[in-house]
Amino acid sequence: MRVTVSVIKADIGAIGGHTMPSAEVLGIVRDRVERERKKLLVDFYICHTGDDIAIIMTHTRGKDSPDIHQLAWDAFLKGTDKAKTQGLYGAGQDLLKEAFSGNIRGLGPGSAEVELDERPSEAFMVLLGDKCGPGAFNLPLYLAFADPMYSPGLMLSESLHDGFTFQIMDMDHAEGDRMIVLQAPERLYDIAALLRDTNRYAVEAIWSRKYPNEQAAAVGTTRLRKIAGRYVGKDDPPAVVRVQKIFPATEEFGPAFAVGPFVGGDTRGSHNLPLMPVPMNTSASTFFCCPMVSALGFSMHDGILTAPADLFADPFWSQVRDRIAEKAIEMRRQGFFEPAMLPMSELEYGGIVVRLRKLDPEFAVRDGHGEKAARTEAAITAEDPD
Ligand SMILES: [Mg+2]
Repeated sequence: MRVTVSVIKADIGAIGGHTMPSAEVLGIVRDRVERERKKLLVDFYICHTGDDIAIIMTHTRGKDSPDIHQLAWDAFLKGTDKAKTQGLYGAGQDLLKEAFSGNIRGLGPGSAEVELDERPSEAFMVLLGDKCGPGAFNLPLYLAFADPMYSPGLMLSESLHDGFTFQIMDMDHAEGDRMIVLQAPERLYDIAALLRDTNRYAVEAIWSRKYPNEQAAAVGTTRLRKIAGRYVGKDDPPAVVRVQKIFPATEEFGPAFAVGPFVGGDTRGSHNLPLMPVPMNTSASTFFCCPMVSALGFSMHDGILTAPADLFADPFWSQVRDRIAEKAIEMRRQGFFEPAMLPMSELEYGGIVVRLRKLDPEFAVRDGHGEKAARTEAAITAEDPD
């Protein structure tokens, strides 16, 4: 069966700050999607990571279906109405446009979609980031799909041995978003050269090379500030990643995420902290909104989803979290000094730009005047040594 997995997520308001949605808002989003299930969907699942609600849907309408995107948009709109009546913080904050215009991309919510011919045992993960930018998954995906040190399946399985094709988005080019396609392992150094800059480049999709019609991963790469023209919160990417058989195994992603790479995001979307793997439905951390990712494992048959396995919930992860928390605490000790705070290029929509503009007239150019003043002082000293 040909099935599309669509994950659409948005922050439409949270309790007491940027923490988590209310049960009532989640319930309204769920009811709204449930109402359309018979008409549009095969199945769906709803959860949250931090303040973002994720609608995970299976259907047969393909990627970029206006009906599916509108369903998510409408559900978020209804949820926003409730969030406003509850006084939730940032109610409707990711719905950046007034009206739906055929596709959710460019309107604020993040989306990731994979269309696939279902395998007999179709296994996939949904990754949900909060308080981080679209490049937050760059390192774990690179390690799992291109580095045999982390992904021994690249050596041990003939299905993986040909490697994978990386589609990488340049999110910060003057002429608009642009994409490059690079194949691993031949272009490994070029892939690494791009993915190291998580503020500018993000993995958008990964494809099998041995089976070129099989998409391995899709990641939401929308930059909210590009839509709004100002800082409006972080981008909080969702991703769909197929696993097992012709793809890396679920457990090969674990050590890659346990690295806890430093990524942009956190408080005011203006800092670097390590990406913390957390169980699903975790509230954002009051420790400076440390970036987080949850991973839901699903099996699917005829588009029907099992209940998810909560992939960062088993006991092993508590030790990983302790270590990543230590990284975060250590970084925060240096406060606003780079790299704890993002570089100025990433703060261009923040209040610091206004502050620097106000400081500007107080600067004096150090040209001949400075030298002259120094000489004059020397001259005065020479004239009057006492
Ligand atoms: Mg969020």
